[in-house]
Order: sequence, then C-alpha cells, then structure tokens
Amino acid sequence: MTSKYTVIAGGVGAARFLRGLAAAVDPSGITAVVNTGDDGWINGLWVSPDLDTVTYTVSGAIDGERGWGLGDESWRVMESVGRYATVRPEGSSAANTWFNLGDRDLATHLYRTARLREGASLTALTDEIRRAWNLSLRIVPMCDEPVATLVDIVDTDGSQRRVSFQEYFVQRRHAVPVRAVHFDGATEAVPAFLAEVAAADCVVIAPSNPIVSIGPIRALAGVDAALAARRDSVVAISPIIAGAALKGPADRMLVELGHEASVVGVARLYAPICSTLVIDRRDADSVARVEAEGMRCVVADTIMSSPDVARALALTTIGAVA
Ligand code: GDP
Ligand code: CA
Repeated sequence: MTSKYTVIAGGVGAARFLRGLAAAVDPSGITAVVNTGDDGWINGLWVSPDLDTVTYTVSGAIDGERGWGLGDESWRVMESVGRYATVRPEGSSAANTWFNLGDRDLATHLYRTARLREGASLTALTDEIRRAWNLSLRIVPMCDEPVATLVDIVDTDGSQRRVSFQEYFVQRRHAVPVRAVHFDGATEAVPAFLAEVAAADCVVIAPSNPIVSIGPIRALAGVDAALAARRDSVVAISPIIAGAALKGPADRMLVELGHEASVVGVARLYAPICSTLVIDRRDADSVARVEAEGMRCVVADTIMSSPDVARALALTTIGAVA
C-alpha cells in the first residue's frame, strides 16, 4: 500500500509531530521514515533511539519529561551494570553506564538484537515492534544497512577527534564544538522508501535537527532527487524557533558548520527539496526572508507542548501543500 503522507523523521520533534498527524488523519495512511544514524551497540544490544522515540511517543508510552524512553521506568539493570565498570579492561566498551537504558525499555533492545542475530532485517523487526505496540501507522528505518553518524569534535582536552553520534550527544552532552559530520556507510546503503516519497500525496520533513537527523536520510542515494522531483508537495517544519533549538545542539551545530541558526538558514538547506516551510509565530517577521530563499512560508504555532497543538500543526502542515 502506498501512503498518503510520508514523514521524514528524527527523534523527539518528529515523534510529537507524528502523534499529532496520527490523531488528525487515518494513521494507516502515514509512513514515517526514521533516521538510524544514531544507532549503535550499547552493552551488547543494538539500540535505535529515533525509531524507539517515534514508537513510544505515538503509543503514548514515552516519558514526557525526558522525551526519550518509557514512562513509569526503573533503572535497576543500569545500577547493576555499574558494578562491572570497575573491572572492565582499558578500552573496553562493556559496562557502559553513560548511555542509560531503562528496565522496561531494555525489552525493546533485547527483542531487536535477538531478531537481528536471527537474520531479520531492521525493517522487518521494526514492523514487528510497531505491531506489538498496536500502532497502525508504518514506521520504517531509513535503510537496513548500518549507517553511522560520526562527529569531528574538539574534545575537552583540546584534541580533535572523530566520535560516534552518541559519544558526542550523550557522553559529552553535546557541549563540545563540532567541526564536521560524516555519515559512514551512507553511500553504500539502499533507501527502500523512495517509492513512498514518489507516491505520497504529501511529504513532510519533520521538525528535527537538519544536520544529524534529516542529514543522514538525505545522504542516502537518490533521496534528495526523489524529494526535488515532487518538491511542490514537500513541506518542512522549522526546528529552529527565534534563532534557537528548543532542545539539543541544532542551533550551535548549524553555526559551527557554516549555516545560519534561523528559519532563513533552515530555508536555505531545504529549498532545493521542499517548496514550503512552516515557521513559528515568533518568527513571523522573517516570512519575506524565507520567501526570498525560494520557499513558500506558513506561520503557525509549532511548539508541540501538547497533543492538541501537535494535531493542529499537522493539519496546518499538510493543508499548506494540499
Ligand atoms: P532527537 O530528538 O535528539 O533525535 O533530535 P531531533 O533532530 O528529532 O530533534 C531536535 C530538534 O527538533 C531541535 O532542533 C528542536 O528544536 C526540534 N524540536 C523538538 N520539538 C519541537 C517542537 O515541538 N516544535 C518544533 N518546531 N521543533 C521541535
Ligand atoms: Ca536522534
């Protein structure tokens, strides 16, 4: 079945948008194409943070305060893992205690890892997880092959080094300067969702970090071309509001990599693949500057502080390119 709405998605912002869209339209017509550049091995388990954030948020099971992981969570396994951190040899990644996995959340990582070891594709097992959570929208990883977002940083000791996305984002709390971003494996990976991009009534680029959440998806062969080919009905929501990210390093990262941390900077990045940008009311005075970049511009309330705001934003967004 081809979807009516295909949503290009990162983590929290995208997940909140998808929950709103699923409340606004028939969810069986929605396909979420989700970033997997953040994925990796943690304590021997394959963890896919953005996929899980989408699944848990649309299910209503997410921890609303943290924005990741499950509500009503406990941390007994992580506390117990800490015992082994004292005996782990130098250089070992065992007994990782900087990347927290809650007790209930661990079940998802156990299931995913066991299915991967049996030879299941990430796409197939992600659909199994979706069904276990009784969701009717489709959730697909951007590709089945592992693609790793790597970040060149200036570390706290002043040395330049290349680290995984989670070593930058979680271990260093994204408090170090970024010099470059790479998507290791992206050129060899095969995006299986291009037909969903071509055939959907409307494609939405969710409010996610343009560099490290939307960037890995765009790095796959043919994705930008597929979006550009139907640009008139591709619409994005700016993750930057009044010059800042709501959370996370998107604003700093844009500036460090030579872009502008504003709705105009977002417009420059998306104009080749997207006809319309939804910006927040606080940026209403930037409409003309966005349009000068060659995009249509729609002003709305875009801070999804509640499911109702997310639902209204979803209706405005798809209405903007209907
Ligand atoms: P992740 O959640 O860490 O995977 O990161 P994402 O790339 O998905 O999301 C981070 C970006 O989404 C930040 O730039 C946020 O400003 C933006 N974001 C998160 N929630 C919202 C929201 O409710 N509205 C808008 N407009 N942007 C949001
Ligand atoms: Ca993410």
